[in-house]
Amino acid sequence: MNNQKYLIAANWKQNGDSKSLIKLINDFIKSYKKIKPRCEILILPPSIYLNAISNRLSHHKIPRKKISLGSQNISSFDNGAYTGELSVDMTKDYNCTYALIGHSERRHVFQEDEKTIAKKMQLSLASNMNTILCVGETIAEYNKKLTKKVILRQLKSALIKSSVLLKSDHSKVIIAYEPVWAIGTGKTASLDNISDVHSYIRNVLNKILGIKTNSIKILYGGSVNNLNASSILSLSNVNGALVGGASLNSKKFIDICSSI
Ligand code: PEP
Repeated sequence: MNNQKYLIAANWKQNGDSKSLIKLINDFIKSYKKIKPRCEILILPPSIYLNAISNRLSHHKIPRKKISLGSQNISSFDNGAYTGELSVDMTKDYNCTYALIGHSERRHVFQEDEKTIAKKMQLSLASNMNTILCVGETIAEYNKKLTKKVILRQLKSALIKSSVLLKSDHSKVIIAYEPVWAIGTGKTASLDNISDVHSYIRNVLNKILGIKTNSIKILYGGSVNNLNASSILSLSNVNGALVGGASLNSKKFIDICSSI
């Protein structure tokens, strides 16, 4: 198995402070150096701490291809009069090579609509950023068996503005399937469910882009931990994981990274 094709991302969300997050990254780097997991690792810290985390990685001489940095969100506008926002190019200044777009908390807590998500995708991809698009159904949609319908709509609407660019180069796009009901709840989707939805996403991507998209990574997210990671990551069409809660514990996160 080629482990390099796996991406394991740590979404720290709005957690911690300067002291605790520096400790978290230092502890993680210590274990990382011992274990040397062969997957690519991505850290998504709160943006105000990007510089501090980036400095720790440089201090420990960690190659950025092994542990990359990303932003949890970007603005849907280019630089200008948009108080409180961070443009994709600003995040590049802080060594970010990834942007996370359309996370369920952005969609549901901050009411980000599909038009905004499509604009963010367009800006991020045009800026040559590795761009992770999150999709996933709510519990009500899951109960009504609407998962595939919702995912089809989310993928189409997010990728439509970027489809011309993506047809010539799709190397920067990554999809994360995150059932909303599985995020931070301890309820992981079943292996059959994950398999089925990931192969559906693969087929939809092939159709939208009109090419074979096997090189596009599809991550699973939703209560991934050190105990369930290995079985989830061994499924076909699962090319990595987006991890929230368990990424705030360096031991659990390194166990996830080395469980492939
Ligand atoms: C997430 O934040 O994307 C996530 C999947 O969180 P958790 O692992 O805590 O469910």
